[in-house]
Amino acid sequence: AQQEGFDLEEVEGDLAEAGHGPLPVLAVVGRPNVGKSTLVNRIIGRREAVVEDKPGVTRDRVTYEAHWAGRRFKIVDTGGWEQDVLGIDASVAAQAEFAIDAADAVIFVVDSKVGATDTDEAVVKLLRRAGKPVVLAANKVDGPSGEADAAMLWNLGLGEPHPVSSLHGRGTGDLLDAVLDVLPEAPAQTFGEFVGGPRRIALIGRPNVGKSSLLNKVAGEERVVVNEMAGTTRDPVDELIELGGTTWKFVDTAGIRKKVHMQEGADYYASLRTAAAVEKAECAVVLIDVTESISVQDMRILTMAVEAGRALVIAYNKWDQLDEERRFYLEREIERDLVQLQWAPRVNVSALTGRHMEKLVPAIETALASWETRVPTGKLNAFLGELVAAHPHPIRGGKQPRILFGTQAGTKPPRFVLFASGFIEAGYRRFIERRLREEFGFEGSPLQISVRVRE
Ligand code: GDP
Ligand code: GDP
Repeated sequence: AQQEGFDLEEVEGDLAEAGHGPLPVLAVVGRPNVGKSTLVNRIIGRREAVVEDKPGVTRDRVTYEAHWAGRRFKIVDTGGWEQDVLGIDASVAAQAEFAIDAADAVIFVVDSKVGATDTDEAVVKLLRRAGKPVVLAANKVDGPSGEADAAMLWNLGLGEPHPVSSLHGRGTGDLLDAVLDVLPEAPAQTFGEFVGGPRRIALIGRPNVGKSSLLNKVAGEERVVVNEMAGTTRDPVDELIELGGTTWKFVDTAGIRKKVHMQEGADYYASLRTAAAVEKAECAVVLIDVTESISVQDMRILTMAVEAGRALVIAYNKWDQLDEERRFYLEREIERDLVQLQWAPRVNVSALTGRHMEKLVPAIETALASWETRVPTGKLNAFLGELVAAHPHPIRGGKQPRILFGTQAGTKPPRFVLFASGFIEAGYRRFIERRLREEFGFEGSPLQISVRVRE
């Protein structure tokens, strides 16, 4: 398999066009009801958003694009923080941690009428540990008489409290000036580098295999929509879902949730959507409907993921519907059609009953770990040396091409370059790939192997 992978610049270009270019990220964090959403709405200049006077009202955590003094940035509203069963402290802390992690700078909002609470102190600890620039907003200073309350917040040890009234707009300009002083021009974590942030998963498969059902099953109540753009009608595309103690980003879920009715061209759009999701993801979870024969379309989707060089997990869905006879044929079909993909972890699930849902995350984790594996050059060559000695390439035209040495040129997925003394046949390359897998694992990751002939 020789693939060039995807074009990073192109992807970044697309994202920039879609409004998800590499802008620095500002997170607004704080306890429920301190006025985070009101402040965000003020900053993005939107007033119609519903703000309820009730602690812990469930709203989505949303990212907006904002600008101030000629600079553009993203602003993450964590106003929808839910108080879950863990209690308010734990959930505020967890959500703050997440937001701070993804941010380049933070506005920490405190209700100056209430003063600093224990929960506020807990968030301050998180902020200190994260080491990101923080601007302290002392909110609900609606008039000069509130200034004294704001000054009390010097006690938090976060520097100057900026008195603001998010409701009336008082002081918000000065606050933003202070923010821009500390907000970097570009985000530290850019999308294309595959670093930082939650891991990105694409849930793909042909229509009716159960993508939407699976998404709903795994998401439960945790679902949070991100990248929703202010003032546009764009679909929400990515959803953050916590599974097994980790937050995952399910990319491009708009295509999953929105049912495209069968009409002319629907297949074409579905396949574009699949391609887009695969490009954005690090790991593809491909769903197969076990009640039907594995189809050309299933194969095409699997191939798309492999050729894009993404980690791969195959989920056989609707397992609850499988009878003995169908199971027999299914296993035959897998042997016949998917023999080349034996390296992909397989989970037999039911989105309906929840069967084996708990196996999904470990499979994804395994695949991603393989995808990032780097084999040291010394180890690789020790292995290749033994292999080539024990199993030399067949002699062709009186000559015997030899693998001279190899190196791993990259990861995500692992890419190997082998240097050879002559043309290496496809069968021998496949043999080497198989043995590489036996030796080093790579479960769930495609391998890219190219051969250079040295004269
Ligand atoms: P969040 O939970 O932190 O996002 O808080 P909200 O933005 O939902 O605000 C909670 C309540 O505080 C709402 O009733 C707001 O109207 C009110 N509020 C927000 N900012 C201010 C402010 O600057 N002054 C006053 N008096 N009330 C505010
Ligand atoms: P999508 O088009 O891939 O998003 O598929 P849907 O999630 O809409 O599912 C298509 C149909 O299959 C729906 O009628 C679901 O209820 C059904 N379905 C999905 N998963 C399962 C499953 O695990 N078992 C059974 N019996 N039906 C399922």
